[in-house]
Amino acid sequence: MILLGSTGSIGVNTLAVAKKFGMNVEVLVCGKNIELLNKQIEEHHPSIVIVSDEEDRAKVNHTRVYAGEDAIVAVIKDSSSELVVNALVGFLGLRPTLAALESGKRVALANKESLVACGAFIDTAKIQPIDSEHFGLWYLLQERAVSKMIITASGGAFRDWDIKKLQNASLADTQKHPNWSMGQKITIDSATMVNKMFELLEARWLFGEGEYDAIIETKSLIHALIDFKDGSTTAHFAHASMQLPIAYALNKKMDANILAHVDLLKIGSLEFREITTDRYPVWQIKNELLKNPARGAVINAANEAAIELFIEKKIGFMDISKKIITAYKKFQISPNSVADVFAIDKEVRRFVKNS
Ligand code: NDP
Repeated sequence: MILLGSTGSIGVNTLAVAKKFGMNVEVLVCGKNIELLNKQIEEHHPSIVIVSDEEDRAKVNHTRVYAGEDAIVAVIKDSSSELVVNALVGFLGLRPTLAALESGKRVALANKESLVACGAFIDTAKIQPIDSEHFGLWYLLQERAVSKMIITASGGAFRDWDIKKLQNASLADTQKHPNWSMGQKITIDSATMVNKMFELLEARWLFGEGEYDAIIETKSLIHALIDFKDGSTTAHFAHASMQLPIAYALNKKMDANILAHVDLLKIGSLEFREITTDRYPVWQIKNELLKNPARGAVINAANEAAIELFIEKKIGFMDISKKIITAYKKFQISPNSVADVFAIDKEVRRFVKNS
């Protein structure tokens, strides 16, 4: 396989699963964490390695090292691997997803921004999502009439905070996720609830038109529920570990045990809450966005630009949501092509940074 984002939270879990199944890793791609990359090279013996910056190439203990986004795309096109695991973070992951699909490769996709921004132009038949919620929906889907697909949210770092204090929350505060250990950006996205909105958009592209919604389940033990027309509801329970969706994305057939079962007697009770717009203002555009999912390109760009401003301490935490909503209202456009997606991305980022 080709593994993009090997040093990240999903990348590290992917290598653990690959080792378990004795899978060959042809290419490793990462950003700045060269120390971890060198350890991964020693353990997995890739043929090619790619880092983000030219000046880091010399620090990598390998004879074939390339740098930059163009190198990622070129290596995907040249490689004979049939599977690309895309665990890059952000819009940066889109070009590699498109390149992999153009080359006829199967894509195990953690990089949700690819589908959020460009789902209208991606053939999802060759994509296996690495996300516990979509894995849950896929697992539960039966040949029975569905009325609604529901995914769950943990509520993120601020689900129990006093709403008045949210505007002054720091970057460090956003990272105190109650249930999952993930990369920095997705943990911020969980705190704003943007992550759940992205997952609903992904679900819409992966499973087609229909009713989608999300609720908070505070222990992150149920990842998806399906309401069937007959009045029954099924739920997917599993411990909060990405290794289960990754294992299915790498191996279509699964007989091995990946996780311990959830012991309901030990859990004792579960708590469900509504996602409210006072704590999570982006939720006010959720329904309209689901009706116009191609406008995910606008939301994704606004979110990434606003997060940058928040990290640079130029805006407060609640301003991330405000910036997204303002951009969504201003750019009442849907892309008609992949080129449009890149153009909209640029324009929305510029608007968010300058307004
Ligand atoms: P991380 O921030 O932990 O990892 C991101 C990876 O991308 C790292 O390997 C990083 O390298 C690499 N990277 C960043 N910039 C560049 C660049 N310019 N060139 C090459 N590589 C780069 O993120 P996560 O693993 O948490 O998330 C990855 C994706 O998966 C996101 O889209 C997220 O939304 C999605 N996802 C994550 C889940 C999770 O449990 N973590 C669950 C479901 C989806 P380095 O660290 O070396 O700089």
